[in-house]
Amino acid sequence: MPDHQTEAGPIPTPVPPLNLGGQFESIRSELLAELTEVAASGYYVLGPKVTQFEEALAKYCGSQHALGVSSGTDALLDALMTLGVGPSDEVIIPTFTFFATAGTVHRTGARPVFCDIEADTYNIDVARMAELITPNTKAIIPVHLYGQLADMTALAPIAAAKNIAVIEDAAQAIGARDDSGHMAGSFGTFGALSFYPTKNLGALGDAGALLTDDPELFELSRKMRIHGSGHTYFHERVGGNFRIDALQAALLTRKLAHLEEWTEQRRARAHTYNELLETAGLVPEFVRTPAERIGRHVYHQYVLRAQRRDELAAFLRERKIGAGVYYPLCLHLQECFNYLGYKEGEFPVGEEASRKVLALPIYPELTADQQQTVVDAIRAFYRA
Ligand SMILES: *Cc1c(COP(=O)(O)O)cnc(C)c1O
Repeated sequence: MPDHQTEAGPIPTPVPPLNLGGQFESIRSELLAELTEVAASGYYVLGPKVTQFEEALAKYCGSQHALGVSSGTDALLDALMTLGVGPSDEVIIPTFTFFATAGTVHRTGARPVFCDIEADTYNIDVARMAELITPNTKAIIPVHLYGQLADMTALAPIAAAKNIAVIEDAAQAIGARDDSGHMAGSFGTFGALSFYPTKNLGALGDAGALLTDDPELFELSRKMRIHGSGHTYFHERVGGNFRIDALQAALLTRKLAHLEEWTEQRRARAHTYNELLETAGLVPEFVRTPAERIGRHVYHQYVLRAQRRDELAAFLRERKIGAGVYYPLCLHLQECFNYLGYKEGEFPVGEEASRKVLALPIYPELTADQQQTVVDAIRAFYRA
């Protein structure tokens, strides 16, 4: 085991994986004012604060409608249920993503059909996706992983030609856009967002949203949010409880006003990591830095492709640097999907990514010293 000295000598300051408390402190009075107002109003679920948030969110994302819901997972589930996805349907999804993308498809009774990814963006390989379409394909869920858009320019016409719905999983990508300014979540039939606290726009608890330009689908998804009910206690369809709290919506409206600034801070930190890693002589021999290929990447995660990834991750954690692996096992190899019959080796690009990716701490509050500490530690590991 290497000792706790770096080349520089003393034990460096720890670099936590997140600094959510720091973000709170920076806008404390704004958030506390909302908390007080909502608490005093007695209106705690849905209501005017939610409508206000939905309007601001739709405007920011360049979408006609936004629906506040209980989580990113429930946004995906609401979209799938609204579209009537169910048994005998197939839904194509990348194998390398967070579990919710696949779990929600399974819960509708439809079959998740996994697809491999591109090596440089980690997003769905659209050419391979096209080969997986069958007459049963009801929807495709591209994921804008780590904050970078999937290739929607290639994907959208393929889906449209076959009348297949597109649900963008934009949980990690609010604010990502292509070169023409088209925003994540506003390309598809639906876009799903998550406001889980660690996401780029984070609530103080669970929350999510659905985006759509279609007024009829919007109305139906709104009913789905309250058990498929248009009028209280009369149910047209079976939905769920996908409601969002007024408090989360009120806090998110305040935070949304800061999102552009926070996004640019994330991007600046990503570019700093790129430069520091280059200067340290680590690229491309030991690590590869993230590719920014389409429009604006919002760096929900800053993900390296690293040699001896697991050893490096352990080395960094031992130095109190919050590095993380998203995701260590592809979805087609998860135990709960054994029944689908996929085998190891079937999606080599995704499987390779699951063995090589390593996310470094990235957030607006991350300091230049902390970034230097991270890169010094990586250098110490490979040069040892
Ligand atoms: C976070 C996330 C979700 C789920 O969002 P929750 O709000 O945690 O339910 C779905 N897909 C992706 C890609 C995510 O990162």
